[in-house]
Amino acid sequence: MKSAIIIGAGMGGLATALRLRHAGFDVTVLEKQPRPGGRSNVIEENGFRFDMGPTILVMKETFDTLYRDIGQDIDERLSFTRLDPNYRVYFHDGTHIDLHNSMADLAEAVKGVEPGAAERLFQFIGAGAKKYALGMDFVTRNYDRITDLANPLAGWKLLRTDSHQKLFSHVSRYFKTDKLRKAFSFHSMFLGLSPFDSLAMYSLITYADLALGMWYPQGGIYSIIEDMLALADEMGVTICTDSPVEEIIIRDGGVKGVRLASGQEMQADLVVSNADLPYTYKALVPAEYRQHYPDRRLDRMEYACSGYLLYLGLDRTYPEMQHQALYFAEDYRANLDAIFKTRTLPTDASFHLNNPTITDPSLAPDGHSVLYLLAPMPNLQGDVDWATAAPQVREQLLSQLEKLVDPDLRQHIVWEREFTPVDFERDYNAVHGTAFGSLAHGLFQSAYFRPHNKARDIDGLYFVGQGTYPGIGMPMVMISADLVTERIKNEWR
Ligand SMILES: Cc1cc2nc3c(=O)[nH]c(=O)nc-3n(C[C@H](O)[C@H](O)[C@H](O)COP(=O)(O)OP(=O)(O)OC[C@H]3O[C@@H](n4cnc5c(N)ncnc54)[C@H](O)[C@@H]3O)c2cc1C
Repeated sequence: MKSAIIIGAGMGGLATALRLRHAGFDVTVLEKQPRPGGRSNVIEENGFRFDMGPTILVMKETFDTLYRDIGQDIDERLSFTRLDPNYRVYFHDGTHIDLHNSMADLAEAVKGVEPGAAERLFQFIGAGAKKYALGMDFVTRNYDRITDLANPLAGWKLLRTDSHQKLFSHVSRYFKTDKLRKAFSFHSMFLGLSPFDSLAMYSLITYADLALGMWYPQGGIYSIIEDMLALADEMGVTICTDSPVEEIIIRDGGVKGVRLASGQEMQADLVVSNADLPYTYKALVPAEYRQHYPDRRLDRMEYACSGYLLYLGLDRTYPEMQHQALYFAEDYRANLDAIFKTRTLPTDASFHLNNPTITDPSLAPDGHSVLYLLAPMPNLQGDVDWATAAPQVREQLLSQLEKLVDPDLRQHIVWEREFTPVDFERDYNAVHGTAFGSLAHGLFQSAYFRPHNKARDIDGLYFVGQGTYPGIGMPMVMISADLVTERIKNEWR
């Protein structure tokens, strides 16, 4: 039986472990942290349970596919609720709009903000559907040579759908008000890109959110990780936590195994790294073996943004709120420029607000609730000092919450924790403390141009997760696990 070591028990590492084991490999997963999950992690304390990273599933079918491919049915093992509305969007003037998953309800809501916008909403969603179909063609394939990208028909369609334009300008063609432009352009932030710089292509994410639905698994996203761990156990995958890998052992141009920080060496026929790809090359592969990824190339890459997270346990519930909400800073551009350009602390932070207890009361003791706040922030390439910045951001977020949700909110906080870019770097070896994934999704870091899932210089070294193609976010990571497994099965059968 061929043996595989997977470095990292993030979602991509676990999905690859299940797929390779199903294909007959002997699989060991080595995770540096005490608990698996990577960026999709959990806090369980004082009767509160918080998803620390992702909170909502889009493109659920990518998870359905993983389970089906290993002979399971995800809907028999986990219970999912489709959210409606997908989001409540709060604006700086205290007004809000609910982004419903029914197009008729969404059109009504949009009309309330911008009379006459309903028809343009349908055009916008239609354009998003075309981009989605086009984008999926680039997303679901392994790349070996640039000609794999060359598809004249796709190139023509790309131009026809304005995918090459900037996202914010594209959205502005459909919506005239600042409010709707914000509400339909922010999604690229989750790929680590400002909507002012991102390709309009990425309005396919807006389409996926609005038209294909957003799903909440009972128990939160970490219940998926827990179920993957249960499956790994049933299938005979070995998972070792508290096991940081220090070096990938390479001899005669091929992988021989890994050396742990403890000094222990483990042999394997092949190694798949789920740790951040630029980190893996720089920290785990000796420089003499990576002519294609020398330090200077890795340093020049474009890194995604980070985030500040605040998790609150409260002694009351908020039934009038929605499950998911967003707050947009009045000066959207200044907020985005601070995050992506000047890499300074935003003065008025936009943030994502989650009130999951409304769907799932099991996350908190009776009469209590949890709130999750995520504010996109510059990564550690800027020189923000997080020891002094964290209390400032916390204050900004709590002040906004008092305006939007409850003027007495602070009196109801009975438990809290925060997580900063420094924590991302320390806990997950996230390069520059990036939150959603390490490498931003500019044109030259997407599809063929994103680092490949197989090392060119080293036989037997593969990658899975957000650092390789297709990229950032749980559905993309699921597809990445499928792609790398197909490649390995072809090469090692
Ligand atoms: C706050 C936040 C909100 C998000 N929201 C969403 C969302 O709503 N929807 C969505 O789809 N996506 C969301 N994402 C993005 C999504 O969570 C990630 O893109 C995805 O989880 C990345 O998974 P991965 O398998 O690529 O790697 P990771 O989760 O980064 O896992 C890599 C693992 O490797 C381990 N590791 C690193 N170095 C070593 C070493 N030397 N030895 C051993 N192990 C090592 C790390 O500890 C980690 O466990 C969010 C992310 C964050 C942080």
